[in-house]
Amino acid sequence: MANKNIIVIGGGPAGMMAALTAKTSDTRVRILEKNNNFGKKLLLTGDGRCNLTSTYEPGEIIDSQVFMANNFLYSALYSFSPADTWRFFNELGVELKEERGRRVYPVSDRSSQVRDALVEEMKRSGIEINTGYNVKSLWLDKGDLKGVILDNDKKINGDKVIVATGGITYPETGSDGTGYKLAAMAGHEIVGPSLALVPIKVRNNWTEKVAGLKLKNIELKLFSRDSGKPLYHQRGELIIEKKRLTGALALEASCFMEEPYNNYRVKLDLKPALTMAELEARLEREFKEMGNKFFKNSLDNLLPAWLRPVIVKLSSIGSTKNANQINAEERKHLAGLLKELTLSVTGIGSQDEAIITAGGVSVDLIDPANLESKLISGLHFAGEVLEPTAFTGGHNLQIAFSTGYLAGLEK
Ligand SMILES: Cc1cc2nc3c(=O)[nH]c(=O)nc-3n(C[C@H](O)[C@H](O)[C@H](O)COP(=O)(O)OP(=O)(O)OC[C@H]3O[C@@H](n4cnc5c(N)ncnc54)[C@H](O)[C@@H]3O)c2cc1C
Repeated sequence: MANKNIIVIGGGPAGMMAALTAKTSDTRVRILEKNNNFGKKLLLTGDGRCNLTSTYEPGEIIDSQVFMANNFLYSALYSFSPADTWRFFNELGVELKEERGRRVYPVSDRSSQVRDALVEEMKRSGIEINTGYNVKSLWLDKGDLKGVILDNDKKINGDKVIVATGGITYPETGSDGTGYKLAAMAGHEIVGPSLALVPIKVRNNWTEKVAGLKLKNIELKLFSRDSGKPLYHQRGELIIEKKRLTGALALEASCFMEEPYNNYRVKLDLKPALTMAELEARLEREFKEMGNKFFKNSLDNLLPAWLRPVIVKLSSIGSTKNANQINAEERKHLAGLLKELTLSVTGIGSQDEAIITAGGVSVDLIDPANLESKLISGLHFAGEVLEPTAFTGGHNLQIAFSTGYLAGLEK
């Protein structure tokens, strides 16, 4: 006979992990998921391959990969670290591998394997699976937690309730912000929430000519009009689409922007390994070797094919000028273009395209040691519904697993 009734709201990675930790011989655990299946968003992760964690140590994640409320995560990440995630999934039969950028994926390259392993383990552990259950509100009686109320007004009794309802992005996956309403009902403050890890919209027409171009190993700097210092500066991968930038660099840079978006400019360094002087010297050498080749045909060693006509046009150097006639001033201007290709920001993508919600239930009134509300005894939070938010690289799923684990632990 179970001594404690535990309800988990939300069957994403945080909720499933919370349910698994909460289930002991002494507890009855029910997981309520409004969709007909679990982990709808989890299936989309990592382009369907699921970048489920990283090989970062907890301290590194806190120091360099979480950009909101990072210190709050100490207990969670040290209680259940990336190494624990690796071991945990191995034990469920999911082999993992490390890829570039210390990103960790299942060897199968299938996010469904990760999702299915969690669901199977929940079934095996005796967790009561309630799909198609939409929680409307918390069941509170004079400030005491009694359980939850479904959208059909049915009440479900619980001594402990873990809210793991996710954020507000990709709402068709089920994460529609209900968790914030539940938290607000209990008196919690909500920070933001805003869209993050979202494509950046730009004004520049030339992007239409190179739509789909993936640039690897370039540098992106984000500036606001009132600051000469970059707000974000990183080397990595960028995808240029029609009047939009996406890929890891753009998604991360979006985390440093707020309205009005037309206050921002993005500068791309297409040759980050060379200084300005080195690039000018290289251009001089290459153009000399090209002899009387047309300028427009002399950039093959420097740029991907799609970008060459764009740079030729932006350079204002006549496309049919002979390479060996390009003078020092023109070379300097061209080098400047390659080192600082500037784009004007007009906005960010929509809620349907943002990878993550920045902000959420404020950590001020949550105990970091067990993720329990300081206002309502027995009420816990886990996953993206909470304020902490990280960059790409498997850290957000790791945070979902770590906070799910900690919220589920009996203390
Ligand atoms: C396209 C995309 C790709 C991504 N790729 C990665 C990646 O590779 N690596 C990474 O680390 N992160 C990635 N993320 C982020 C990651 O998916 C999220 O951080 C993570 O899913 C959050 O887990 P969660 O359990 O907190 O919330 P969610 O996964 O959003 O799950 C919340 C669940 O709660 C349910 N729910 C909501 N309200 C209710 C209610 N009232 N009643 C019952 N159920 C409810 C929802 O239906 C949903 O199933 C990606 C996100 C997107 C959108």
